[in-house]
Amino acid sequence: RMGRLATIKTLAGFDFSFQPSLDRDRILALAQLGFVERCEVVHFLGPPGTGKSHLATVLGVEAVKAGRSVYFTTLADLIAALARAEREGRLQEKTRFFCRPSLLIVDEIGYLPVVTGGGNLFFQLVNARYERGAMILTSNRGFAEWGNVFGDPVVATALLDRLLHHAVVMQIEGSSYRLRQHAELTPEH
Ligand code: ADP
Repeated sequence: RMGRLATIKTLAGFDFSFQPSLDRDRILALAQLGFVERCEVVHFLGPPGTGKSHLATVLGVEAVKAGRSVYFTTLADLIAALARAEREGRLQEKTRFFCRPSLLIVDEIGYLPVVTGGGNLFFQLVNARYERGAMILTSNRGFAEWGNVFGDPVVATALLDRLLHHAVVMQIEGSSYRLRQHAELTPEH
């Protein structure tokens, strides 16, 4: 379920010197997977290209290696799957499906606007997993912006109530690794 990313995204392949705001020891501690045992939520926050998905994938791969079940998705795909299931009268079944993995990784919160009712569907899942399974969330938006992200401040508050209760927040204050690579390929002026 981790897909092709699993083969190329590694902890060894992550250049910590490029992201000095990131505490390497905390990432190494997360890779010990205590957060999965404790059913905690790990948040990676920061601008695009700062390695949030890379690190989420690395932790997912570690969990798979340790024999845990992991499911990786984006928020948009997750909500689309829940919305489809709801239309087909299978929402409970689908919510149970997403509750099964020990670790659920939800990537790309904040990039695409959440469809009407999507925040509610996500909330139902978060509530069902609350204190029962670990999650990793990545977002380019601060928590204060979640009302806008989900188009509903009440749902955003309820979500954050659950998602920040047993949580680790890793804030990355750096520049994009993608743009660094681009700069290297572009001749100097
Ligand atoms: P984000 O999820 O924050 O938008 P990604 O994790 O997708 O960023 O990173 C963008 C690309 O840059 C990926 O190919 C990722 O592997 C790579 N990358 C990002 N940060 C680093 C880093 N510090 N060291 C090595 N590769 C990195």
